[in-house]
Amino acid sequence: MSSFKLHDSFEYAASDNQIISANAVQNGQPIWLEDLRHWLDRHETGSRLPPERRLAETLHVTRPALRKALALLEVEGRIIRQVGRGTFVATPPSTSYAGLSALTARTGPHDAMMARLALEPELAKLAALHATPLHISRLQSLASDIRLVSTWDEYEALDHALHDLIAESAGNVLLHELHKIMNAVRQVVVWRQLSPGIAGPPPDYHSFDEHDAIVAAIAARNRTAAKTAMRAHLNATLHAMTSDE
Ligand SMILES: [Zn+2]
Repeated sequence: MSSFKLHDSFEYAASDNQIISANAVQNGQPIWLEDLRHWLDRHETGSRLPPERRLAETLHVTRPALRKALALLEVEGRIIRQVGRGTFVATPPSTSYAGLSALTARTGPHDAMMARLALEPELAKLAALHATPLHISRLQSLASDIRLVSTWDEYEALDHALHDLIAESAGNVLLHELHKIMNAVRQVVVWRQLSPGIAGPPPDYHSFDEHDAIVAAIAARNRTAAKTAMRAHLNATLHAMTSDE
C-alpha cells in the first residue's frame, strides 16, 4: 500500500505552515483544520489517513482536538471512519453540510445541550421500536466497554459511538443524519467538564449506570423507559455542565 507515501506527503504539507501556531484561528476554526482540508483535496477517494496519534503529532494538536475536527469532516462528507480499519478520504457529496462550520461559530454550549434534549430522547424511543438484535448486542458491548476506559479521551470516543449507534438504531436515515450534524457541532462547542486531578472517569461515574438504563430499556423494547432514561442522562450531563462546583 501507499500509506507510507501518504504520511510523507502529509508531513510535507504540514511543514509549509510550521510557523503558524496550532492555536491560530481563522473564521472561528483552527488554521490546522484548513491544512487538513487541503491535504484531503489532494488525495484520491479511498486513501487512508495516517493514524490518529501520528496525525495529531504532525499537526501539533491534541488528540481530543483532532477527534473533534475529524467528527466535523465526517459530517461534511469529507472522510469516512470505519471502526478497526481507519479513516479514509471520501468523495465530497453533492449535498454537503456547507453551513456546518458557520453553525459551530453560532452555537453556544447550552444551545447544543438543548438540541440534544430535543432530539435524543425521541431517538432512544424509536430505537426501542426499531433496533435489531445486532444493534442491541453492540449497544450492550459499548455500555460495558465504556466502564473500562482509563482516560477522558477514551470515554468521549466511546460515548460518541454509543449515542451515534442509538441514533442509527432508531432506523430513520434523516433523523440519524440530523443527529450526526448535532453531535459534530456539540463536540466542537461543548467542552468536557474535567474533574481537576482526575485523569479519567471514576468507577462510579454517573453516566455508566445511565447508559446501562438506556440500553436495557431499548433491549426490553420499552419505549417510554428508553426516552425517560435518555432524558435523565442528558439532564445529568447538563447539570454537571452548569453546576457551580
Ligand atoms: Zn452518554
